[in-house]
Order: sequence, then structure tokens, then C-alpha cells
Amino acid sequence: MTIQGTVTLKQGRDHSIKRFHPWIFSGGIESIQGSPKEGDWVAVQNASKKILGYGHYQKGTITVRVVSFSSEAPNENLYSAKLKTAFRQRKETRVLSTYTNSFRLVHGEGDGLPGLIVDLYQNVAVMQAHSIGMHNDRQLIAAALVETLGSTLDAVYYKSQSTLTVDSQNEYLYGMAAVPHTILEHGNKFLVDWEEGQKTGFFLDQRENRRLVGEMAQSKKVLNTFCYTGGFSVYALQGGAEQVDSVDSSERAVETTRKNIVLNGFDAIKNESITADTFDFIKDKKGVYDLIILDPPAFAKHKEARHQAMKGYQRLNAEAMRIIKPGGIIFTFSCSQVVDRQLFYDTVVSSAIQAGRIIKVLHHLSQPSDHPVSMFHPEGEYLKGLVLFIE
Ligand code: SAH
Repeated sequence: MTIQGTVTLKQGRDHSIKRFHPWIFSGGIESIQGSPKEGDWVAVQNASKKILGYGHYQKGTITVRVVSFSSEAPNENLYSAKLKTAFRQRKETRVLSTYTNSFRLVHGEGDGLPGLIVDLYQNVAVMQAHSIGMHNDRQLIAAALVETLGSTLDAVYYKSQSTLTVDSQNEYLYGMAAVPHTILEHGNKFLVDWEEGQKTGFFLDQRENRRLVGEMAQSKKVLNTFCYTGGFSVYALQGGAEQVDSVDSSERAVETTRKNIVLNGFDAIKNESITADTFDFIKDKKGVYDLIILDPPAFAKHKEARHQAMKGYQRLNAEAMRIIKPGGIIFTFSCSQVVDRQLFYDTVVSSAIQAGRIIKVLHHLSQPSDHPVSMFHPEGEYLKGLVLFIE
């Protein structure tokens, strides 16, 4: 790596980097030596010129995303070393099994690689950069993926067109693979299309929560809102649900839901897949469902949008609480990073007050072990969920 500059921190502002927090905020910076461009590698030193790490430079509130907390400059082996560590953790925690062949290999800061996401769909890695630095290093990272995963990897697809402010092509950086591809999750099959689908193609982060839905679905009439490609729907049917209605505003996602139901051997009659706005759909469905899943997209992508987003969560949850049958169960989620667990909980409480029903909290849900959170970077916890029992 060529180091293009040095960022010197203000006196007393080196605590967080020493504690392995990967973000250097502009307010903590005394001076910048050299003239680094967006995405360049820079060194970070404290006021007494001791080097504390290296990372990607970017103009903005977060000025450096630290990738290496070492006093020695990183070399080309950095990415393969990090990927090997990440892969070992997934193997040690048994994410990979005979029944599950797809998982998140790199979860940004949680894996010491801020700005990088890699989802592995059996033999295809889908890479997404959220920083210019990771974008610049994409070929190095693709080569490190090939080295780490060996002959089990057939292709690396790079998909950052919608996550970067610079021009970026969605393309294969290594090999090629046909879409849609059938993956296996807890023995259930799903079609994944990383080229045309949302995000990297599939929401791997709901794997364990889907399983819990399956465990509670026996004989129930289920409504899966914001269903995307029917992840929760397939598990509900697997768990013996009497009927599942799946709703999404994307026609393409609804079409794939239908295919996924059939792919898993279920009668299409047991699932009705509907293209609709969730808020419209549930209005007149009072007393129809025993189990409702609310898994909306991130209503708030940044802090400024948080207030409006909270109103969205409040209204959605209040509506579901109003219409669900007595003795019903609601799985409710928020994947907005800027909405923390407490704020989400308080909002759902406010929905409960509005709905005027007696409600118990059965489970607090989160993201699975292939979406790890660094202890020093709590911001990495983004998925929050509650399982509620409505009397
Ligand atoms: N639960 C899904 C992931 C949900 S992602 C899974 O397990 O895979 C959020 C989904 O909400 C997307 O598919 C998006 O198309 C859909 N969506 C966004 N706004 C919507 C709305 N107002 N009504 C219904 N669906 C919506």
C-alpha cells in the first residue's frame, strides 16, 4: 500500500483509536501532512507523533476509517489476513453447515474492514464498498478472496453502484456465475439474484429470526409484510403454518417469493403473494392474522431522517397491533443504524399505548454471528427486533 499522507490527532484525542474504534472524526484532527485524495491510505499519529494505525482517508465528518491498528505500514497481505480471520470465525461459530451454505463473510467494522461488505452465496462472493478506499482496493480484495476461499470460489461480483458517490460499475472481478442461484439456508432453498436483486441479493441477516418464526408458526395464519423474496414465508410454511400471505411493494420480489414457495415443495395455494404497500394492505385486515412479521427497509438512513422514521415505525406497529387476533404474535424489526435499541423499544411501546392492547415482550432479537459487532464499535449493531404477544 502506498501511504499518501499523515493525519495528526489533537492532544488527548487518541483514546478511541487506542481502543480500536475505527473512525477518526474531523473534530479530533490537529493537522494533515501531505495531500491525500479521497480513498487514499494515510497514517494516523497522536500529538507526540507516535503512529497508531493506518486507514482510508475521506473528506467528511469521518475523515479516516482505520483498517490497521499497527505502527507498521500495511502491505498487500493485509486483506487476505483479515479475510482469513473472518472466515475462521464463521467456521468456528458453525454458521456454515450441511444445511446452510451462504453467509456474510465480511461485516465492515465488525470484521476490522470498515466500508466493506462481502456476502458469500455458496460459491459466489458479492462485494460491496461503502467507502472510496475500499472501492480503490477492490482488485486487491478480490484477489484476497480468491486466495482465502480457494477452489470453492467461482466468482466475485462487485456491486457498489448504489453505495458510492463515485462512478462504479457493477461487474464480475473474478470468474462469472449465472443468476438466479439457489442457496441453502437451514435446509430451505432460496433463489438469489445479486445482479438485479436488492442489496447484495438476499437478506442473510434474518437467518436466525426466520427460524424462530418457523418454530412459532404451526397452524397459524401468517402475514409477512415487506417480504422481499419470501424468507420468513418459507420458514413459516416449513413450521406448519396454515396459510401465509406475503406482501411487498416490489413486483419482482413478489414474483421471486412465489417461486421460492414452490421451490421448497409447498403448495402455491398456501401462500398468497401480493404486490402492495404494506400500510394500505393491512388497513382492513382486522382479526385475520395470528402472526404478523414487520421487517421494513431502513426508514432512517441518516440522523436527520430519524424523527420522520420514528413516526413510520410507530404507525406501522400500531396498525399491526390493532388488527392482529387476540393471542397473536408480532415479529417487529428495525434495520436503521441510527435508531438504537432503546429508541426502537420506546417507539414500539408508544404504538402499544395507541393500540390500547395488553402486550408482552417475548424476545429481543438481533443480527446473527456472521454480522458481528466490534465491542469497540457499538454502532455496528443495526438489526433490532422484538417478538410480542398480544393478549
Ligand atoms: N424480510 C425480508 C427483507 C425485507 S427488505 C427478508 O427476510 O428477506 C425490505 C422490503 O420492503 C423490500 O423488499 C422492499 O421492496 C419492501 N418495501 C419497501 N417499502 C414497502 C412498502 N411501503 N410496502 C411494502 N413493501 C415495501
